[in-house]
Amino acid sequence: MRRIVIGGNWKMQVTSTTEAVSIADDIAQGLSTLSSVHVFIAPSFTELYSVNKAVKETQLKLAGQNMYYHEKGAFTGQISPLSLANLVDYVILGHSEPRRIFGETDEFIRQKLLKALEIGLIPVLCLGETAKEREEGNTKAILHQQLAGSLKGLQIEKMKMIILAYEPVWAINNKFLNPDTEIRPATPIEANETHTIIRDWLKNEFGAPVAEEISIIYGGSMNAQNAKELLALDQIDGGLIGGASLSAEKFLPIIRTAAHLLENRSTDYRWESNTLRFDE
Ligand code: PEP
Repeated sequence: MRRIVIGGNWKMQVTSTTEAVSIADDIAQGLSTLSSVHVFIAPSFTELYSVNKAVKETQLKLAGQNMYYHEKGAFTGQISPLSLANLVDYVILGHSEPRRIFGETDEFIRQKLLKALEIGLIPVLCLGETAKEREEGNTKAILHQQLAGSLKGLQIEKMKMIILAYEPVWAINNKFLNPDTEIRPATPIEANETHTIIRDWLKNEFGAPVAEEISIIYGGSMNAQNAKELLALDQIDGGLIGGASLSAEKFLPIIRTAAHLLENRSTDYRWESNTLRFDE
């Protein structure tokens, strides 16, 4: 079943446990227990334990921002998938920041993805091209390279567990990634094109029925204002949100938009109930 997923990537932005728990509490309170949208947040590793305690009984799920692929051993500074699995349901892998700032390769990401699947974490696999790659006409080639590098040959049952996040690097609100270009969200036309490229690759590799089941979410400067037109596209199954996930005030309206649009989708991945509670 194609899931509609809204994730909040907190990166290294919330550095106090009190603040992290308070934001998470506020977000969790805005969701009913029967939410039609799958919602997660990814606080810093050091805040996960406390946030987990705070939201355990709620609809709000947690994600790790990354992980290593060995379970245990002499790997200073790494996060074991086993430690993570005690606290979260999802793990973000292949985000442009570790890819482009810290040099993570497709093969390295693939190892992590396989481990995440093995231990029952839902991988949110990010991919996306830089402004330069797009200008040079290489968007499709880069996406194919990233998809093949991490997913080629994966068993179909495993593939169905994965959520893909298309995040054009140039749209991510990060000056380190985009020192010389204007940062802006993808237009619905751009996002639709690239999501279609991704789904077509999945169709070729895994067949149309599997490709149709996989959620492909969009990330890059998404906010309450632009969420409506982006999430309205049938090819976009949710969002991965950085800056606008750092408060309930900014994040909940995006979830509300997703829930509302979901109600109007005609396809069979619509969920039964949709009882998100929001304050206007
Ligand atoms: C991200 O880094 O995953 C992201 C989408 O960030 P932002 O929404 O701040 O552009």
